[in-house]
Formats: sequence, structure tokens, C-alpha cells
Amino acid sequence: MSKKDSNLKNCSFGTKSVWAAETELFYEGATQVPIVQNATFGFKDVDTWYDVALEKKEGHIYSRNTNPTLHVFEEKMRILDGAEATTSFATGMAAISNTLFTLLSPGQRVVSVKDTYGGTSKIFMEFLPRFNVNVQLCDTTDHEAIENEIKKGCQVVYLETPTNPTLKVMDLKRLIRTAHDNGAVAIVDNTFATPYNQMPIELGADLVVYSATKFLGGHADAMGGVVSGKKDLVKQIYHFREINGATLDPMSAFLLIRGLKTLEIRMQRHNENALKLAHFLQGHPKVEQVYYPGLESHHNHEIAKKQMHGFGGVMSFTVRGGYEAAVKILPKLKFARMAAHLGSVDTIVGLPKVASHVETTPEERKLLGIPENLIRCSVGIENIKDIIADFNQALSKI
Ligand SMILES: *Cc1c(COP(=O)(O)O)cnc(C)c1O
Repeated sequence: MSKKDSNLKNCSFGTKSVWAAETELFYEGATQVPIVQNATFGFKDVDTWYDVALEKKEGHIYSRNTNPTLHVFEEKMRILDGAEATTSFATGMAAISNTLFTLLSPGQRVVSVKDTYGGTSKIFMEFLPRFNVNVQLCDTTDHEAIENEIKKGCQVVYLETPTNPTLKVMDLKRLIRTAHDNGAVAIVDNTFATPYNQMPIELGADLVVYSATKFLGGHADAMGGVVSGKKDLVKQIYHFREINGATLDPMSAFLLIRGLKTLEIRMQRHNENALKLAHFLQGHPKVEQVYYPGLESHHNHEIAKKQMHGFGGVMSFTVRGGYEAAVKILPKLKFARMAAHLGSVDTIVGLPKVASHVETTPEERKLLGIPENLIRCSVGIENIKDIIADFNQALSKI
């Protein structure tokens, strides 16, 4: 941390996101982060090179390991997360898989839930078992069942809240405490909430992981992943990443840095818009059910209120008329993209059956509590009047 960055300690979130790791001028007095688009870094003498290699001196050697543009992105996230250390990845899945494969060895055990992100769930069900790691996936909302599994002994507890696509909420403080009481490392995927809405490290988590592709970048134009947390753990995960090579590229890092600067105002607007759309849909005669942690009808609204600053930009709802009705509505929306994405400034809609859960069977979706007529909506930062008018006209067509 530079001297000037220590001035940020008592600043609020929005100030940190603009200024963190950018209080000093860059190369040739540049005020904005240069995109250091090169593979390698040269030295004038061998001694300096050796000292940098031994981490006795600051510097960069090769961009698979470290790069100045990536460094600024990582420092910004470290400060926003309130973490000891942060490292970055090419994608969110790279961050998650590198973390799990760093921390788990054959014969060990991880406890998680059934509602993790689709890719994460594949790691748990398809890949970790091949390496003889025992994976226990619990009912997401059954805290007692999760705690009972943790108490049987495990090395890692992996949590995600709110979940995709039914926005289930878990009590992080409670489950992290149980993990620690039983000697396990607690990891939280904070992609949906972002550090603006939820601070897992403050709630006790050892590590927090993100897909930066979503709200952190916020414009659907760059992919990336982040791991923040305890220094010794992040160091091990960084080491695994520098060797297997799932490194973020400088251009994406630049775009993600630019995105982070508006994170506070974007999240405020996402929170506000999603809550208003949820209220509107809840009162609509063609809507069966709305899934959003900000609604009092949500199963864990009280926990969400306690551990979240805002309820996020993602909500889901079911429409009357089943899957056919849902299929009819989506193309009728004028200002919502049908796409497998979330967390961008534009409103995005999708059906779990064809997007996040395309690889599951109807029976599996039923077990997960995902109705076939569920529409997931990542509410953008457009004017909410236009979003509501758009959903209203689309619903009137069924
Ligand atoms: C998208 C997503 C991921 C994976 O991130 P990628 O950047 O697509 O690899 C992980 N977790 C959650 C909750 C996500 O939404």
C-alpha cells in the first residue's frame, strides 16, 4: 500500500473505489492506469533481477505471474474487500477452481450447498471426486443440516449467497463460525452481492471469491475473477495460479478497474431498480411468485437485512402459463437482452432451463426447487419507469 493509500483508511466505499491504488501518478505522469500490454519485463543487471525473483525487491518479471495493471486491480479489490491480500484470475471459474484445487487434497472433505453457481457445482460433482476429494452438498436453506455435516469434519466450507437463480440466502456469520469451530477454511462466493452490498471478510470469511465478469466490471465487456482474504491462503492460491496459468490479461484488468470506479453508484441503482421491479411483479396478476431477498415474503429476508447493505440487482419470478408463457414473454421485452449473463448496466433476462441449468434434467431442477417457468432477471441501471413499462407490456401479451 502506498503512503497516500493509507489516507483512504477512513474513507467511504465510493471514495475507495475511485482512488484506491491510484493515488500516485503512473508512468510519465499518466493519471489513469496504463495498460501494460507486454509479456515480460527487462532488467539492467542480474543482481536486481535476482532480488525481484526472490521478492526482496518490488518489480515484475513475467506477466503470467504479476503485471502492473493487474496489480492496481488487485489492490483496489483488496481495499474494497477489507482483505489482507488479493489475487486475480482470467475468469470467475478460474478463481473458484484454483482456490478449491489449492486447498483440497485427496482424502479430504469439502462441505457446500446444492445451489452453488452451475460451474462450481460441476467442480464439486464431476472434477473433485476424480481426485478423491469427498464432496458433501447440503440443502441450501437447511442451516442445521449444513452445520451437522461441518461437524463431521472437513477442510473447506464453501458458501454462496444470494444464490442463483432462486436467490436463497444463508446466514454467513453463523455458518462461518461453525466452520471455524471445526477447523475448516470458510470461502464465500460474493459475486451477486459485491463488496458494496455484503462484506464476507467482516463476517468472518477466510476467503471471498468473485466472478469480476458480473457486477464488478459491470459492462459485460471483460471477464475476470478475484480471490481476497487471509495472506497465507491467498499466497498459496496465487502460487497455484502462476504455475497453471489462469492469469487475467492487462486489457481486461483495465476495463475492470474502470468498472470498479462506478461500483457504488451502479449498485445503489441496481438495488433500487430490482426492489421496485420485484414489488411491481409481486402485484401483477400474471405473476405467480417473485424471488428477491428484499421482499418481506422472502424466506430469509431477516438474515438478508442483517448481513446485506442492499439486496442486489438479480431477481427471479415465475409466470402463469408455465414454460410456454415464459418463452413467449422474453422476446416481447424491448429493453432486456436474452443472454447468459448478469450484473451489467443493461437489463438481462434468461431461463435457467436453457442457461444456468441447461445441463440438469427436469427432475434435478425440481429437486433444486427451480420451476420450469422461472425467469431470471438481472435488473440494469436504466430508468425504472421504462423497465416496469416494458415488463408490463410484455406480460400483457400472454
Ligand atoms: C458467473 C459466475 C461465476 C463464474 O464466473 P465466470 O467469470 O463466468 O467464470 C461464479 N459464480 C457466480 C455466482 C457467477 O454468477
